[in-house]
Amino acid sequence: MTESYQFDVLYLGAGHGTFDGAIPLANSGKRVGVVEADKIGGTCPNRGCNAKITLDNPVQLLRHQERLDGIINGNLSIDWAANVEHEHEVIDGLPDMITGLLDSVDIKIIRGRGKLLDAHTIEVNQQSYTADKIVLATGLRPHRLDVPGAELAHDSTDFMNLKHLPENIVIIGAGYISMEFATIANAAGADVTVLLRHDRALRKFNQSYVKQVIDDLEKRGVKFIYNAEVDQFMEDGSHFTITYNDTESLTTDWILDATGRIPNVEKLGLDEVGVNYNSNGIEVNDHLQTSVANIYASGDVVDKKQPKLTPTAIFESSYLTQLFTDKTTAAINYPAIPTVVFTSPQIAEVGITVAEAQQNPDYTIKTNHLPDGWFRQVDKETLGDNTLIYDRDHHLVGASEVSEHAADAINVLLPAIEFQFTPEQMARIVHLFPTLGADVWDQI
Ligand code: NDP
Repeated sequence: MTESYQFDVLYLGAGHGTFDGAIPLANSGKRVGVVEADKIGGTCPNRGCNAKITLDNPVQLLRHQERLDGIINGNLSIDWAANVEHEHEVIDGLPDMITGLLDSVDIKIIRGRGKLLDAHTIEVNQQSYTADKIVLATGLRPHRLDVPGAELAHDSTDFMNLKHLPENIVIIGAGYISMEFATIANAAGADVTVLLRHDRALRKFNQSYVKQVIDDLEKRGVKFIYNAEVDQFMEDGSHFTITYNDTESLTTDWILDATGRIPNVEKLGLDEVGVNYNSNGIEVNDHLQTSVANIYASGDVVDKKQPKLTPTAIFESSYLTQLFTDKTTAAINYPAIPTVVFTSPQIAEVGITVAEAQQNPDYTIKTNHLPDGWFRQVDKETLGDNTLIYDRDHHLVGASEVSEHAADAINVLLPAIEFQFTPEQMARIVHLFPTLGADVWDQI
């Protein structure tokens, strides 16, 4: 290490790709700096996971009451404004909380947009900061459709800050954000239409489970329009018109463009310094090292096949800390990373997918219809299936579930999948009874 650098490690971006690793790194005695132009904490705490799960929470209660109707009576409804207010009670303190954690280990926070000047220097507000190593953790931003009137559509942050819920909402795209926000907006009383450019929602998920979620949303009044290519958005008095497929149109109060997220790679000086990137993000090797040896990348901005999710970013920033403190020289070895769509019912999955298992004779697939078991009948669940995938030695290698408790159910299975428990080891796990954990284990 060259002592003349101001920092041992300088991070660009202050999200989970940075702070989960930067804090222990600074705690180990390294000189650490973090450059951030926006809110400390990045997308997940400020305009992503934490906000969304707060908005979704009352939906779970509505569904629970609906299932137990006749036992629990009453007309429950969501007060949208109060729900958004509560969301802000939950999230507004997070940047200060994270700043406090950074301050507590003497991490220097540099406010402003950073740009690489060379392999060891980042410029912020005309001031240069040098570091032995640099970590690019600039995340993703919403993709915006390239159509006339694109500026009339909103993004997920706008949705989560809506003071009043529009009566009619059209959502473009059918990925995580679309399906989760369609669920929340519909439960809160909005008339929701989802426009899909092709014929599939949640493309990477088990499509038979996706169909169950869509069928349920349709029963609740959400409309899905397939193979609809948006031509333009137009303002029409206090309403908006969306034209699609040349001749079709829809009128709405509010448009959500939920067509994915794209990496923040522009204006960072990547081309000038020689950091390679593509449309999926910054290219790295198996040590998260970019094409410039002392510059690394972490979090959603990395071009990778793993899901671009908060837990992946946390794992990467923690790995870099191990690397920078010489606790490892090994390549990053990702664990099984689970993923969930917080619709209601939820869809969660981890490991080998059903589609992969169907192509490989080494795998066996077991399915369970969950309402057949007494435990889910307690809650009067009528919807729910899971799929368990085993290798030749009967190790569990993949699992997926659609149900009201899919996220918790898949969480229960993670140790078995990650550590390849043998059937004998599985038999030694005793869960509290009667609980979801015991129910999930019972089906293995
Ligand atoms: P997704 O990538 O999940 O979905 C994008 C959707 O937009 C797809 O249905 C896609 O269709 C469609 N689409 C893409 N381009 C166009 C276009 N030009 N015209 C019309 N439709 C288009 O993105 P999201 O925005 O929903 O979410 C972004 C990311 O945020 C996720 O990938 C995930 O990393 C994260 N996230 C995670 C959540 C969770 O873990 N629960 C929740 C919310 C967000 P097609 O499939 O046909 O390409």
